[in-house]
Amino acid sequence: MNVVLLGPPGSGKGTQAKLLEDEFGFIQLSTGDMLRAAVGAGSELGLEAKKVMDAGQLVSDEIMVAIISERLDADDCKGGFILDGFPRTVAQARSLDTMLVEKGLKLDAVVEVCVNEEILAARIAGRAEESGGASRSDDTQDVVKKRLDVYREQTAPILPFYKESGLLKSVDGMVAIDEVAKSIRTVLGLT
Ligand code: AMP
Repeated sequence: MNVVLLGPPGSGKGTQAKLLEDEFGFIQLSTGDMLRAAVGAGSELGLEAKKVMDAGQLVSDEIMVAIISERLDADDCKGGFILDGFPRTVAQARSLDTMLVEKGLKLDAVVEVCVNEEILAARIAGRAEESGGASRSDDTQDVVKKRLDVYREQTAPILPFYKESGLLKSVDGMVAIDEVAKSIRTVLGLT
């Protein structure tokens, strides 16, 4: 099964993607994780991405589309994948559509994890605290606010795009992790 998980930063989509990977073997493709790996490796992409990420902005569509396109060609994606953090703009969503057709693949569903933004900001701040200094450099309060603004302005417009194609399902992301997991399995018909 090929799925997109959509939701603002801190909505728990990464956690849910990981749970789906563990249970069903669909591969979690987190563009945030890929970029952080590039930053950690000190590659040219990483150096460029770090500046953008630390400002809470988005890395260019061109770079992100190229990264995902290459990743989807790997054998481990053949049994299904969960896109976590991609697409993040309407342009990325359109490019994803095109590349999936070219690769002979299709999406089965797009799941929106719905959350309350105020509670979310507190959740992300808590994540920074919990990590005891090893927190993500983009988890500071100002950057979190910026990332939420960017989500509202650039990513949320993807929702009508997928609604029109009939792929969009929504789940409540404000309940316990296992409850969210259950709802996602239900909307995906995995129960
Ligand atoms: P995430 O871990 O998904 O919250 O992503 C962390 C940061 O990586 C984002 O704030 C962006 O700067 C960058 N990023 C991740 N995925 C994308 C994407 N699909 N398009 C543009 N930038 C991205």
